[in-house]
Amino acid sequence: MQFIDLKTQQTPIREDIEQRIKAVLDHGQYIMGPEVTELEQRLAQYVGARHCLGVSSGTDALLIAMMALGIGPGDEVVTSPFTFISTVETIALLGARPVFVDIEPRTYNLDPTLLEAALTDKTRAIMPVSLYGQCADFLAINAIAAQRGIPVIEDGAQSFGATQRGERSCHLSTIGCTSFFPSKPLGGYGDGGACFTDDDELAKRMQQIRVHGQDRRYNHPLIGVNGRLDTLQAAILLAKLDIFPDEVERRAAVAERYRKLLGDMVVVPFVEDYNTSVYAQYTIRVEQRDEMLAALAAQGVPTAVHYPVPLHRQPAFASLGYPHASFPHAEEAARQVMSLPMHPYLKEADQVQIAEAVKVAVNG
Ligand SMILES: *Cc1c(COP(=O)(O)O)cnc(C)c1O
Repeated sequence: MQFIDLKTQQTPIREDIEQRIKAVLDHGQYIMGPEVTELEQRLAQYVGARHCLGVSSGTDALLIAMMALGIGPGDEVVTSPFTFISTVETIALLGARPVFVDIEPRTYNLDPTLLEAALTDKTRAIMPVSLYGQCADFLAINAIAAQRGIPVIEDGAQSFGATQRGERSCHLSTIGCTSFFPSKPLGGYGDGGACFTDDDELAKRMQQIRVHGQDRRYNHPLIGVNGRLDTLQAAILLAKLDIFPDEVERRAAVAERYRKLLGDMVVVPFVEDYNTSVYAQYTIRVEQRDEMLAALAAQGVPTAVHYPVPLHRQPAFASLGYPHASFPHAEEAARQVMSLPMHPYLKEADQVQIAEAVKVAVNG
């Protein structure tokens, strides 16, 4: 049993992928080739956004989005302490200060009722994370941001394909960012990511920042980065995008089976009625996590913990000066969450076996 089974996914699309790669080898435009543009158009259409930019990773998507908004030293960016390191390291890399707001314990996403208190006259952006495949509450967050004229960036690295009130993730705020890291819901065979926006001016700035801040060759109005998506990655993602809508449905079916099998034994994912999740992770909550992890390992069930340490307690961010107990819901989640195998092709028989292993552990 695998935590994420990319091999099974590859079998039916292997020929398409090979053809797509072969086309790139034939035309030889490895940087910003036609596949990048084709992918950007298809992703923009899928998300419903005016603009899509393929970039080199989800991390660079966040960096480029914040650079386009002019975020730098002295600025504050409000985000969640319960996320992958990228969300916060990119803020720090720009010399800005990450300001944390605790999570809502059922969804693990930034709690909008705590947001207002974290805003100051230095707040330059709010960057909620749509964790485990479910979007943060952008209706509430955008309303607070709009009162102050603050832009909102969605870290949608785990939520590509999810919806909220009929809109797709990455089209819920000023800029939406996602990742195509192989294990994400839409994953390539290497690093990749994308930025989405409806704002023409921001799209233009992000396009320039992606290529060293240039508007034309050797002319650089902005300071930028090397943040392009490889043509070969775009080619692979085009083949994967064909089956992605079907995979989103399969993910929901797998999650529903898990809910039926596990719902009485452990805390299963809670999805708000205005959301659909893509279940980037199927993350449960247990009080005796070490015992559960050991019991599943003994039964050959792979697991992972996303994430064992909230970011305000990472050594790299000690200088922010947050006391340990600053964010009780994030702290408790970090102690209790664990993720089970999750991918579109997970078999019912495997899920039954996983549920049996959970049952043995729960009954001690
Ligand atoms: C994966 C991830 C990222 C970073 O994406 P990369 O493509 O690996 O750089 C950022 N934020 C979150 C929440 C993620 O899960």
